[in-house]
Amino acid sequence: MSFIPLGLAADLQCTCAEIGYKTPTAIQKQAIPAVLSGRDVMATAQTGTGKTASFVLPILQQLSGGQAVRSNHIRALILTPTRELAVQVADSVATYGKSLSLKSCVVYGGVKINPQMMKLRGGVDILVATPGRLIDLCKRNAVKLGQVEILVLDEADRMLDMGFRVEIDKILKMLPLSRQNLLFSATFSPAIDDLTRGLLKNPLRIEISARNSAPKTVKQLVYEVDKSKKPELLSHLIRNNDWSQVLVFVRTKKGADQLVRQLKGDNISAVAIHGDKSQGLRTRALKDFKANKTRILVATDIAARGLDINELPHVINFDLPKIPEDYVHRIGRTGRARLKGEALSLVSADEVKSLAAIESLIQQTLVREVETGFVPNHKVPLTRQTRVKPKKPKKNKPVVPQTDVNDGSAR
Ligand code: AMP
Repeated sequence: MSFIPLGLAADLQCTCAEIGYKTPTAIQKQAIPAVLSGRDVMATAQTGTGKTASFVLPILQQLSGGQAVRSNHIRALILTPTRELAVQVADSVATYGKSLSLKSCVVYGGVKINPQMMKLRGGVDILVATPGRLIDLCKRNAVKLGQVEILVLDEADRMLDMGFRVEIDKILKMLPLSRQNLLFSATFSPAIDDLTRGLLKNPLRIEISARNSAPKTVKQLVYEVDKSKKPELLSHLIRNNDWSQVLVFVRTKKGADQLVRQLKGDNISAVAIHGDKSQGLRTRALKDFKANKTRILVATDIAARGLDINELPHVINFDLPKIPEDYVHRIGRTGRARLKGEALSLVSADEVKSLAAIESLIQQTLVREVETGFVPNHKVPLTRQTRVKPKKPKKNKPVVPQTDVNDGSAR
């Protein structure tokens, strides 16, 4: 199937063809016609499914007709949880909208506000923003939300995890009542349910992959190892397999910096990305990694959320995440857009509870391996999931904030 039956305008179809999109992805097939019809949409879709294009393309089309934007006003607002995701979505807006004369802009915290205020002066059609900075700009009257026709909450689950509910509610109060709402979330939780209840009107519900499931294209493996041996095992795996581009997840910012030091000590080029790094450093780190200048990117969950790194073959969980849903987000960095990927978790005996929670969430028992020379002294016990056949999935518990949550990284 091509993009033609979805109702996209000819110039947007041409852009898709130019970028090499031959067929729409599952979410694009459902979301594009719905957004074009003006309907609210609630989509549970993992990253890597093509969800950005599924809302950006029809929004561009919707906005290319209609009233001109007034000074300091905007017509579509895309809220994202992190600066990195904001930049990425803004890049997609620029790419998909290159044949149109719509104005777009991205704003996020951690950088000077004045240049952003200048850009907003004449009004922009599409604004991509993180919640905290948007509220700052509203307070300074640099942006006015009275002309907003379309609101998108991208990675809504992560926004809630990061404690942005208050900011979202503040922003919603400033928007006109008559508007189209689109909500995208990688996972489903009661907190999301609560948010959508007051927000969406008769939404089209799209569920692309099973709730909280891992992408099928990702091969998952657990390496049992003693905690103290993890850095050594990581360097060994990287060298032995000659991996050139690896995204490594750790739980804490301190842990990220420490691991980078250890990898560098082993002559492996590595850089950390987390909330304590300046925006400039984070952007450069990501750029260098994408350009294959850095071999290893070590990231905390929040810093890495939503990053689109094309054809990333390997994701390593150096530590298992505290929140089981983050495992799904993490391994969603590989095996994207139908490519095959590998997600390896280095698991020590003290992490068995986290492993059990992950296996229960994804309803899958992960295959375990022990690398020669790294046989653990502290055995990783079998999890319940390993011994009993999973029954019906349990209802998800509300997602609780994690260690990095209040580091202000996205504000
Ligand atoms: P997203 O889920 O929006 O982060 O997109 C993941 C990746 O899929 C991005 O690199 C997109 O460029 C790519 N992509 C999106 N739509 C398509 C499509 N229809 N065909 C091929 N690749 C796509």
